[in-house]
Amino acid sequence: MIKTDIIIIGAGPVGLFTVFEAGLLKLKCHLIDALPQPGGQCAEIYPKKPIYDIPGYPSIIASELVEKLMKQIEPFNPGFTLGETAQTIEKGSDGDFIIHTSQGTAHKAPVVAIAGGLGVFTPRKPPIENLSIFEKDNVHYIVKEPAIFNDKNIVISGGGDSALDWALYFAENFAASVKLIHRSENFRAHNDSVQKALEYANDGKIEMILNSQVSGISKNNDQIVLGVDSKNNEKFNITCDHWLPLFGLTPKLGPMGDWGLEIQKNAIKVDNSTDYSTNIDGIYAIGDVNTYQGKLKLILCGFHEAAIMVQSAFKKIYPNKNNVLKYTTVTGIKGF
Ligand SMILES: Cc1cc2nc3c(=O)[nH]c(=O)nc-3n(C[C@H](O)[C@H](O)[C@H](O)COP(=O)(O)OP(=O)(O)OC[C@H]3O[C@@H](n4cnc5c(N)ncnc54)[C@H](O)[C@@H]3O)c2cc1C
Repeated sequence: MIKTDIIIIGAGPVGLFTVFEAGLLKLKCHLIDALPQPGGQCAEIYPKKPIYDIPGYPSIIASELVEKLMKQIEPFNPGFTLGETAQTIEKGSDGDFIIHTSQGTAHKAPVVAIAGGLGVFTPRKPPIENLSIFEKDNVHYIVKEPAIFNDKNIVISGGGDSALDWALYFAENFAASVKLIHRSENFRAHNDSVQKALEYANDGKIEMILNSQVSGISKNNDQIVLGVDSKNNEKFNITCDHWLPLFGLTPKLGPMGDWGLEIQKNAIKVDNSTDYSTNIDGIYAIGDVNTYQGKLKLILCGFHEAAIMVQSAFKKIYPNKNNVLKYTTVTGIKGF
């Protein structure tokens, strides 16, 4: 049984920063994440993209932000259970929460901070038979290492931000060719990206295939052949090295949806007028996973929520102790 002060579910940027804020109050944390590495969406969805709205950083690459957060929490020596999903929660006889993961690892703490973001990541996959055979080498739902696409012929499917952003990125960065297939003529992405993609299509940097979708896939040596159907009943094949069907992630709260928490629009309802507590005493929800009026799903908002939440957690764990806010410029960082 792993025992700690705060069990944090989710090692995304918000979960990681919670360790820091809790550490300043001498509270120990243990993080559980279904992914094999920390960083949440930053590490899993857009590790190589620059973020422009982290205070103090005019621009920072997402994976670099995760590295810096990991460095920042190092003095507080947090525990990690990675690659395991927090599955069940129960209350022990002493009032502490006990959380078991999908692999059976048990964790115990008086406070639980859910920083589960979008929940357990599940990409929306196109309904094509045998797709899984190609997922190891040629079909990717997330771009983790852009360098593997250098000098390759890439086909991207989708009409949202992710599809457009990566089409632009690869058109600008060393791909041999980029084709963008979209089932309609209207895009859901930001206007700027759509305008730029249309310019690139005019300049021949991206080939746009609209009103069409991929309906089949087969192997041709190291390459793949995509069967494409257009709305006006044309059928044709495209041979390429990689196919990226980027239809987004299905937001699934996963097991946490069955823990008796108040859920609204697939997110956990919290009291933002006080401390981001949920309807269950001792369980908080911070970052993308929570909802309240005016909620913004931004990293900096999650950081703020973490700072407020740990103050409340401290009072819960040490009801008789008085905590006075001290600046780090005065106290420095004293780890465990
Ligand atoms: C393409 C893209 C670009 C973005 N750009 C920006 C930007 O420029 N600026 C900005 O502020 N925000 C941006 N965001 C949003 C930002 O990434 C999120 O606000 C941020 O990641 C939320 O952090 P989090 O820690 O709350 O959740 P997440 O990063 O989603 O991490 C949650 C973690 O919880 C884990 N988890 C969930 N359920 C369980 C469970 N039951 N058991 C174990 N683990 C679990 C998940 O595996 C995940 O690792 C962007 C998002 C995307 C997709």
